[in-house]
Amino acid sequence: MGIVKRHHKLTLFACWVLAIHGLEIRAQDCELPDYCDRLCWSPQGSHPAQSNPVSTDPSHIIVHHSGDNLVWPVGTDFKLVVQAYWDQHVNTNGWADIGYNWLIDRNGIIYEGRGDGVRGAHFSCMNQSTTGICLIGNFELEVPSAAALNKLKDLTAWEASDKNIDVLTGSQHTSSQLDLFHLSGHRDGNPSTTPQSCASGTLCPGENLYSLLSSTRIDVGNYQCYNGNPNLLDCADAVSLSCGVMYSGGTSTDTSSVFSYACNNWTETGPERVHIITPTTDGPLKAELSGFAGDLDVYILGSCDPTDCLGSVSSSSAVYEEAEAGKPYLIVVDSDDGSAGPYQLLVTCPTPVGTENSNLGASIELFPNPGYDRVYHRTPADIQLTNIEIINGQGQVLLVADPNGSINVSQLPNGVYIVRFTDQFRRSANLKWVKN
Ligand SMILES: [Zn+2]
Repeated sequence: MGIVKRHHKLTLFACWVLAIHGLEIRAQDCELPDYCDRLCWSPQGSHPAQSNPVSTDPSHIIVHHSGDNLVWPVGTDFKLVVQAYWDQHVNTNGWADIGYNWLIDRNGIIYEGRGDGVRGAHFSCMNQSTTGICLIGNFELEVPSAAALNKLKDLTAWEASDKNIDVLTGSQHTSSQLDLFHLSGHRDGNPSTTPQSCASGTLCPGENLYSLLSSTRIDVGNYQCYNGNPNLLDCADAVSLSCGVMYSGGTSTDTSSVFSYACNNWTETGPERVHIITPTTDGPLKAELSGFAGDLDVYILGSCDPTDCLGSVSSSSAVYEEAEAGKPYLIVVDSDDGSAGPYQLLVTCPTPVGTENSNLGASIELFPNPGYDRVYHRTPADIQLTNIEIINGQGQVLLVADPNGSINVSQLPNGVYIVRFTDQFRRSANLKWVKN
């Protein structure tokens, strides 16, 4: 793309964090993405920058739309559109330059407006300590493109890491005296109580873009170049769980690395606790948390990647209906209030009744049935059992027996049970057995 110039940022103010233990160094240094500079969108130089720019050090990034009274047709030359905004801002409004610091079109091309570190004219006369990014379009009428949103995130990640701005939180913006997210929409500036505000209220940046700002913050927070964490989830020490067996998790002293999972757009600020389970039959996998303080949430992941979140989450429980036998799933406990305390976690696997492998089941004899204190099994010579479990009606494993001997059932209360046999081919069979 010859028209787009590459500008390499000098790393003068790159933020380096030196870990206390060891020599690990964390760098927060997202790159400024490619952009179309002023000579790119105005090759004749007929839309000049102001001669006396006022510098500002942004604490807040303000997102806009251009709010045109139309949806730009396919094939629009957005350089001409940027020229038109400059002309309106300078010749109609009487401003020194185009109001925004940056603009982004629907194709994901970034245009230089006033550029980096210059006070703009975009935030209702409260521009000090802001930078203004305008997505070209009217997001009351249309939905922003993925290409434009991705560039908004890239540009935000660069600005935030360069200016040491925490995109996940907010603070009071001095010139508006409003408590604002560090990544806010123009409309967050109204109503302002300050005398310098010249806003009478705005819809900008449009509902369809404004509603994406929370997930944009989280997505930028997950940028490796931003948060400095090369491995979001640590799955190497995942705790192994068994279906139907309650696990008691202890307090964690780890730090939070993952800020969101793809199943929802909640912000997670607690340390992640990773568990692993492999169901032996196809069907719904359900994870439930109990016995905790604070606000823990649980997620089911198909891999060690927060974007590979499966099924539905309702805070302290998660369900994935289409779990596959023999495939490992990660069960992640995280919190949206920083909680790191103890918890209990119960994962239930597909109900075993009716899902047995008929071939294996037909070749196992289980006797006596009904029985009382000891039960025996017999299998053909080519089948080697590797595991025997006794499961109650709630799917909980009550007893794991020696696959090569008889089963002592004297401690079990009277009732109906499933005896699950697993063989050397990882096939399983569930036989109904009654104690009386
Ligand atoms: Zn605006």
